Amino acid sequence: MWKCPYCGHDRGHVFSDNQLNGVLCLNQECGRFDETHEIENTASDFDSSDL
Ligand SMILES: [Zn+2]
Repeated sequence: MWKCPYCGHDRGHVFSDNQLNGVLCLNQECGRFDETHEIENTASDFDSSDL
């Protein structure tokens, strides 16, 4: 589960874009953007098996 690194709030809105990935904190007193630096590499693992 995501947790805001700034305020500790556990509710956020996941924002995903081809340039920006992260979670926007839904705490009205915070509202900061926690950028995710992890890159999902599932699509690059190609299995080329010739049957
Ligand atoms: Zn926050």
